[in-house]
Amino acid sequence: MRLHEYQSKQIFGKYSIPIPNGRVASSSGEARQIAEELGGKVVVKAQVLVSGRGKAGGIRLAKSAREAEDLSANILGMELKGLPVRKVLIDETVNIQKELYLCVINDRSMRKPVMITSFAGGVDIEEVSRTTPEKIVKIPINPLLGLRDFQARDMAAGIDLPRELWKSYIEITHNLWNVFVDFDATMAEINPLVITGDQKLVALDGKITIDDNSQFRHPEMTDIRNTDGESPVEIEAQKFGLSYIKLDGNIGCLVNGAGLAMTTMDMIYLSGGTPANFLDIGGGASAERVTAALRIVMLDPGVKSILINIFGGITRCDEVARGILSALNDTPARVPIVARLVGTNSQEARALLKGTSLLSASSIVEAARLAVSAAEGGI
Ligand code: GDP
Ligand code: MN
Repeated sequence: MRLHEYQSKQIFGKYSIPIPNGRVASSSGEARQIAEELGGKVVVKAQVLVSGRGKAGGIRLAKSAREAEDLSANILGMELKGLPVRKVLIDETVNIQKELYLCVINDRSMRKPVMITSFAGGVDIEEVSRTTPEKIVKIPINPLLGLRDFQARDMAAGIDLPRELWKSYIEITHNLWNVFVDFDATMAEINPLVITGDQKLVALDGKITIDDNSQFRHPEMTDIRNTDGESPVEIEAQKFGLSYIKLDGNIGCLVNGAGLAMTTMDMIYLSGGTPANFLDIGGGASAERVTAALRIVMLDPGVKSILINIFGGITRCDEVARGILSALNDTPARVPIVARLVGTNSQEARALLKGTSLLSASSIVEAARLAVSAAEGGI
């Protein structure tokens, strides 16, 4: 899960990393009010999960609250790299003297977190790392020991940071490390970390990515789980512990086990069709979860037929059948459904589904072919 700049900065603020005063707005009127409170001179920043907002026109300086309102109206109507802007951050402007770079990221090749810093931060950091990699200092961190003081000092020295800023810089590196650890982040970045005209360090931008596998440890984060990048259906699926990924095809799939889900998708392709989603209901799925899964697959308007492929082991086919029945009871199927239920209690499942409109198949090949021709209107 990637956090928006304003969410990342709120966290920075709680961890004593200096940030500019500011607040997020969803309308230009709200933006104007915030700008007034901040004294008029503000920066209006599009809150979308893309990088390079500055270069794409998503960051504008306003000299008055009135201008902030106009700019916000403009930015709130924009799409940046395909994503609509739903919120703008209104921050007081900062007198920038120098833009630095600071980040902690999991480095897979080193198999540990690495702190990365540079005196040449800002919007061209990728260019810096490509053309003058010597300007970038990387410090591998032992995850059990955490960031050590000497490492923070090495970084300050490595980028030739003016002496008077060391204390503040070292505090910021420790605080950023704490954010990284406490939030199970895979990345926590400040770019730019600016030196202001009055010789202070301020985090002007923030980007935190949180490991989705840690979601259960952070119930407090559910509220800020971002919805721009993920489809509402995917979010709904997560609530039921289903791994659902939307694809472009027209055959909805409901399968138990990731391996079988992949095989099912392959079989659909081999039969000349295209899957509309990847959906693994997991092992030992309950009727409730099956009901939710079927409902979710049916939410996709692109779905023209559904293929249910269950290999019963711990998962019991009769339980799955009960889930299907309950889903159909709530919302009658608007498309043909093909079911292949084999393994544990498959007889009982078949008995339960008898008399329904479900098309039953005994082999995966037959099931895929049926689903493909059903999607094409052949059934
Ligand atoms: P990004 O392009 O998505 O990384 O967005 P940033 O928040 O990093 O902003 C890009 C650039 O806009 C920064 O590097 C700054 O040069 C500039 N910028 C952002 N906030 C301010 C501000 O408050 N004052 C001034 N003068 N420039 C800013
Ligand atoms: Mn930035």
